[in-house]
Amino acid sequence: MATTSSGLRPAQRTEKQRIMQQQQGVSHGWNSLTRSLNYGQQSLRSKDTKPVPSSRRSVTPTSRSLYRDFDDDNDSGRVRVAVRLRPRNAEDLLSDADFADCVELQPELKRLKLRKNSWSSESYRFDEVFTETASQKRVYEVVAKPVVESVLSGYNGTVMAYGQTGTGKTFTLGRLGKNDASERGIMVRALEDIMDNISIAFDTVEVSYLQLYMESIQDLLAPEKTNIPINEDPKTGEVSLPGAITVKLRDLHHFLELLQIGEANRHAANTKLNTESSRSHAILMVNIRRSVPGKVEDDISYQDKITKGNFPIVRKSKLLIVDLAGSERLDKSGSEGLLLEEAKFINLSLTSLGKCINALAENCPHIPTRDSKLTRLLRDSFGGSARTSLIITIGPSSRHHAETTSTIMFGQRAMKIVNVVKLKEEFDYESLCRKLEAQVDLLTAEIDRQQKLRQSEKSSFEKQLQECQDCFQETRKTLVTRSEFLEKENTRLELDMEDNLAELNCQKDHNNLMQDKIADLEMRLKQSQQHQLENSTYQKLLADTTEMYEKKIAELIKQLEVERARSKTAEEQLNSMKKLSGDHHNLTQQQEMENSKHQKALVDTTRIYEKKIMELTKQLEDEHTRSEDVQEQLHFANKRQTDYQNSMQKQEEMSELRLELQEMYQLHESTINELQSLKAEFKDQIEEKESITVKLYAVQEKLSAEEKQRKTIEYELEKLKKSAPEGDTDFEDEESYMKENIRGNSVLGTSASLRKAGPLRVTKSAAQRVIVAKICEEVGIQKIVRLLNSEDLDVQIHAVKVIANLAAEEVNQENIVKEGGLDALLTMLRSSQNATILRVASGAMANLAMNEMNQSLIMSRGGAQLLAKTASKTDDPQTLRMVAGALANLCGNEKLHMMLKEDGGVKALLGMVRCTNSDVVAQVARGMANFAKCESRAIVQGYRKGRSLLMEEGALEWLIGNCNIASASTRRHVELALCHLAQNSKQSSGIEISMHL
Ligand code: ADP
Repeated sequence: MATTSSGLRPAQRTEKQRIMQQQQGVSHGWNSLTRSLNYGQQSLRSKDTKPVPSSRRSVTPTSRSLYRDFDDDNDSGRVRVAVRLRPRNAEDLLSDADFADCVELQPELKRLKLRKNSWSSESYRFDEVFTETASQKRVYEVVAKPVVESVLSGYNGTVMAYGQTGTGKTFTLGRLGKNDASERGIMVRALEDIMDNISIAFDTVEVSYLQLYMESIQDLLAPEKTNIPINEDPKTGEVSLPGAITVKLRDLHHFLELLQIGEANRHAANTKLNTESSRSHAILMVNIRRSVPGKVEDDISYQDKITKGNFPIVRKSKLLIVDLAGSERLDKSGSEGLLLEEAKFINLSLTSLGKCINALAENCPHIPTRDSKLTRLLRDSFGGSARTSLIITIGPSSRHHAETTSTIMFGQRAMKIVNVVKLKEEFDYESLCRKLEAQVDLLTAEIDRQQKLRQSEKSSFEKQLQECQDCFQETRKTLVTRSEFLEKENTRLELDMEDNLAELNCQKDHNNLMQDKIADLEMRLKQSQQHQLENSTYQKLLADTTEMYEKKIAELIKQLEVERARSKTAEEQLNSMKKLSGDHHNLTQQQEMENSKHQKALVDTTRIYEKKIMELTKQLEDEHTRSEDVQEQLHFANKRQTDYQNSMQKQEEMSELRLELQEMYQLHESTINELQSLKAEFKDQIEEKESITVKLYAVQEKLSAEEKQRKTIEYELEKLKKSAPEGDTDFEDEESYMKENIRGNSVLGTSASLRKAGPLRVTKSAAQRVIVAKICEEVGIQKIVRLLNSEDLDVQIHAVKVIANLAAEEVNQENIVKEGGLDALLTMLRSSQNATILRVASGAMANLAMNEMNQSLIMSRGGAQLLAKTASKTDDPQTLRMVAGALANLCGNEKLHMMLKEDGGVKALLGMVRCTNSDVVAQVARGMANFAKCESRAIVQGYRKGRSLLMEEGALEWLIGNCNIASASTRRHVELALCHLAQNSKQSSGIEISMHL
């Protein structure tokens, strides 16, 4: 018996547990099957953990089972025992007609009463009690069907009939029922069920039909095979008869044929042996081999199952249907003439079975199974692992009371035997082996196929490889050729690239040159545009001025005509006065003569007037012509500036002329008034002779005054006459004036330089000074300074010119600075873009810079920086001359040298020599001389040391290079500067100058 063992390994334990679970499942299945026989298969199976294969045949729901009332777990393996009572036969009816039956059945109580005698009986309980009317079908379903189902589930099973000969054992078990299927016995019904519930394709059913007689086993299907040995597996205890034929059943009909053959052979054998069939044991051995559903058949996952250890499982179960020999005594069976030994052998197996049953029923430690072949064959059926049903058959006759009692007692003892049913399941190594072999064959074929494929592919690859190698060689040759060609091409391209690079560089240089030219042209264009703008302004101004001139001239001509008319009138008046005088007063002839003289003088004066007016008119016409010429000249770009200056001078001259004409007009007015007075006097003379003389005196005086005025006008006209044809600009006058003043007030200036100015210029400058002084008196410096900030550019220009002229006078400088003139000039330099303003303001700065106090103010207010900036943004020689003059003046103040240097004044001064204009160069030279001299003075006085700041700015090279300059005054300044620098150098450190010199 397989019980749990603590000594098992885990895997073994697991397998053991599985088997135990299956056993329990079978047990349940047994019970469920049992229940299904009684209450319906469908409802009970749902509770099973492991369903028992369903029978294809329907089971009668009302059938009862041997296992219905004993389905507890403890009793599930117990041998079930049913008792069947044979109906009375003819013999019984004859023999026992007067006797009652020895047994009384109580089938509803499953009890049997055995009469001991007429008054007492004993009751026995069985698993089932069949009356004489019990059908074969019901007997099968109650006794054998559960065992058959169990065998189909993989358990061994035994169905055995025990009883006295003639009680119906063979009827119950081996009835063929050829004519009446209802009479079929258990063997046929069991095989019918088995064949219906297996699959011929996967399962096998093999049968052997044997007879045991005299401890010899004979094969009923092959009667020649006798004394077949029993083989017991020492490991499993399985009993087999390898010498017996096993026939694999095809169907039930096949079995019926075999059974019929077996019965025939049994009958023939008994006849031959002169025995009765009741003395032999007939054994139908049915071996069922079933594959576990869902484990072996699934070929698709078969390999996986092997890999995972899921081997195919097969259940090998065995059903034994044993028709035992009659249990009666030998003498009762009619076997007479037998030797005692024979009798012993005939009965040995049955006796041995009884002993084993007894031992098992009494739980004896030793079961004598090996005493007979029957007990060896039934070893698993009683006390083993098979499910066993025993049907005992009895007859009703009292004549066989003892046998009946013996049979009942045998059954009672057998009921006590409990088997431990065990699933006969094992790995289906054969199937596995077959499948694996098939798999191996398949895989071998696949490998062969793959090898052939590989071989084919290898050949193909080798061929392709050869082709690739050929192609590679060819490509390599092509590449080499191509590479050589590309190298040559590369070399050629490099050369081309170098050429292109050189060409590009040339192009680049050319482009740079062109860019410079473009920049230069753009600058020129800008200047030209500026000049054009200025020209248009000048032209407009000139046109206005000319128009004004024309108007003035027209007015003057008109006035002269009026004057002539008046003179004529006056002459007429004089003639009338003369006539009146001649008529009325001889005494006054002398006076008349004088009057005539006066008249003559007046005529002369008038003539002179007319002459002067004519000249003036001519001059004006000339001036007009000249203005037109100037206007034409304005079209020339290179003379624009000069023409502009001329126009400005003319404008100023026109202003002066306008003033003079205004004065003349006033004089003419007064003359007219006087003439009217004379007329009135002449009229009065008629009335008052005495007063005529007085009036004549008065007239004479007035005429004298007129003459005086006339002379003055003549003088002015003369001055205009002389000044106008020269065509010089007020700027030049201003320049000379400034220059004279600069020179006169410079450090180096002497009175000699002042004297060097031409007398005309001095006279003209003096006249201008008079005019300016007059303006200053009338307007006041404060207002003029205020005009410097005017928004009107013309006003600004006039104002800065006046301020520049006023600044030339030292007496005005203090007022100019006091009234904010210096600041206004600095603002102009800082912000104005007008060239005239920059030029004139620079000149004004130069004039103011003559004063030492102003010098400090100019420097402290950034004047040097502004002058340097002005110098840097213009190439106009006049402006540069003004700036250079201003800086030269500032160079004369030693205290300001460092600041002047730091503000870029010295560098700007030196930089202006780029303009080759002699006046500019002269101013630069003067500034250097001033600077060097001041340094020299400071060194001599002992409050300066070190290298000359001038030399630090690189002045020395220029001075040395211009020692032989053409202009005497400039050369003198250069020489003077060099002398001072040499002196300074000698005193401070070096021999630098002397070496250069
Ligand atoms: P055994 O095998 O026990 O010697 P048999 O099966 O040969 O007995 O039966 C003897 C006779 O009794 C047979 O003719 C059989 O037909 C008959 N017989 C036995 N049991 C029954 C039964 N239950 N119903 C009808 N006839 C029976």
